[in-house]
Amino acid sequence: MFAKLFLEEADRGLEVVSVRSFNELLEYLDDSVDCVISDYVMPGADGMELCRAVKRRHPVPFILYTGRGSEVVAEAAFKSGVDDYVRKESDPSHYQLLARRIRSHAENYWGIREQTRYQHRLEDLRSNFHLLTEASTMLGVGETTFDVLSRIFGCGEGWFSVVEDGRTTTVLERGLHPPSLDASDLVETTEVDGAYLFPLRIDETIGVIGVKNGKGFSSQDMRLMDTLGLMVAQSIHRINQMEMIRAREEQFRSIVENVQDVVMLTDSTGAITYISPSVNDIFGYPPEQLKASMWGDMVHCDDLGKLEEFYSRSLKGEKGSIKEYSVVTSGGETRWVSHSWTPILKDGEVRVVVSAINDITWRKSTEEALRVSLDELEQTNRDLNDFTHVVSHDLKSPLMTIESFTSFLLEDYGDTLDDVGRDYLSRVMEASGRMTGLIDDLLTLSRVGRKFTEYTSVDMNRVAQEALDDLEAQVKKSGAVIKVHPMPEIVAQEVWVKQLFVNLIGNGIKFNESKPPRVEVTYRDLGDSHYFGVKDNGIGISEDQRGLLFKVFQRLHTEKEYPGTGAGLSICKKIVESMGGAIGVESQEGFGSVFHFTIPRNLPIRAADAQVSQEAQASNLVKYL
Ligand code: ADP
Repeated sequence: MFAKLFLEEADRGLEVVSVRSFNELLEYLDDSVDCVISDYVMPGADGMELCRAVKRRHPVPFILYTGRGSEVVAEAAFKSGVDDYVRKESDPSHYQLLARRIRSHAENYWGIREQTRYQHRLEDLRSNFHLLTEASTMLGVGETTFDVLSRIFGCGEGWFSVVEDGRTTTVLERGLHPPSLDASDLVETTEVDGAYLFPLRIDETIGVIGVKNGKGFSSQDMRLMDTLGLMVAQSIHRINQMEMIRAREEQFRSIVENVQDVVMLTDSTGAITYISPSVNDIFGYPPEQLKASMWGDMVHCDDLGKLEEFYSRSLKGEKGSIKEYSVVTSGGETRWVSHSWTPILKDGEVRVVVSAINDITWRKSTEEALRVSLDELEQTNRDLNDFTHVVSHDLKSPLMTIESFTSFLLEDYGDTLDDVGRDYLSRVMEASGRMTGLIDDLLTLSRVGRKFTEYTSVDMNRVAQEALDDLEAQVKKSGAVIKVHPMPEIVAQEVWVKQLFVNLIGNGIKFNESKPPRVEVTYRDLGDSHYFGVKDNGIGISEDQRGLLFKVFQRLHTEKEYPGTGAGLSICKKIVESMGGAIGVESQEGFGSVFHFTIPRNLPIRAADAQVSQEAQASNLVKYL
């Protein structure tokens, strides 16, 4: 009893409870007892027995306080688990020492107890982590988090928010009113209106939890809440990723299921693991029916060999495609497909092969129809050429006879005829001369664009000069001034580009009343094509007549006004278009004209591969049909 008084006096912070017996002591023993002090002899037990019994129940520090001061006693006491040993003295000042020893052991014991509690709560948090990671929605994460908070920290109130576009959106509330805050600035736990807000962060703040409890939180609680914050953030992150993956998968699925091609996934054995619904529309098989079967089961027996290439190359990890093979539909019909594939490898092994199968039946039949038409067209062209050749020869020889005999008549019997007779004969000469011109132009027109005309590198300056040589008489007679600007070498059919210059420069001189007539040839590089212009200061062409210019044998003037057959410009048009270019005119009546044409840099057809390119053209055509 005295001891209690002296001790409380020595350290006013101590709360001392004295008990009289061993059983009474056991009744008191709980978490709130920080230290036990016992005499060497207690009623019903000695101090060391008591120590052993206490230690079995609680790891509380035990101080033996005794008047028996021998070393033997001290040794026996420490062996029994006693933490300290203080000798009773007659001088009451030794209570100061006892109080200091009690405080020191108690404080040490608090520290250990706190640490242990902290460890247990941390373990609790960890064992709850799987609950968090199992949550598949934000609501689930919120529920679990509050569950953990109230179990481990005893939180009564709180709210749980996620950060969306820099602002917090409350997912779950339990009575607290969330303050409006810019959550992305919240890096550390802060206190607002008595509630603790702790951020959910991985690299950046992705959410906030605000919590409150009556007792407040210790500094260790705060550390644990930070840990919990990280765990929750990981769960939110995982859910966000899952949602992103789900959305992406959804997107890909909708793309795959809406493309016209059949998209097929096969595993490393070649068995179908996925096939898009379009397989039903094209081949009449529901996708479920084809799962685990082999694509080869549907392929026409004649084409099975081609499919072996797909299996063997794709399983070696090679990308590839088969241009065409045939597949038998559920209704027994044969359809043509083209098939390309890409294997997906993991750890060097083919896991999945992604195939795109395109129904080309329609293209195949169109190609076939086109091929037949082309054959027919070629035959017709050949026949037409033969016809033109024969007709022109057959027409020209009687014409030559007419011309010869008319000139004989004029020469030998001209004197015996009167003026009217001679006029008739010269008209016959003129008409047959015009007819010869018409036949020659027709022949020229039929020759333009023939396959056998070579494409070569042509110096356009030289070609223009050669054209001027041909026009020498016309230039001299008219006194025309011709200016040719520098031009490059281009790839073209030389004979025809020369013809272009002859016709266009010739027209520029012919349809010209200016003194002197002027014609200017210009060039411009348009990048993917060459531009040539033939400008004159001639009579010009009215707007309503321009549409007729390039039609064969269309003339805007009479033979008397300006001689000609009316085939020159249609020959020009055919030449330019056969090389893939375009021809046009700009003109104002009375103020001259500019005829211009382009020749592409990359010509569509070269003589050497004209046949091949015809086929290519055909299949190109099909593409655009
Ligand atoms: P042709 O010269 O034999 O008459 P073309 O086909 O070369 O035949 O020309 C058709 C018509 O276009 C000509 O009759 C003429 O009326 C008109 N034409 C052609 N070139 C010019 C030009 N440079 N200026 C004015 N008119 C032109």
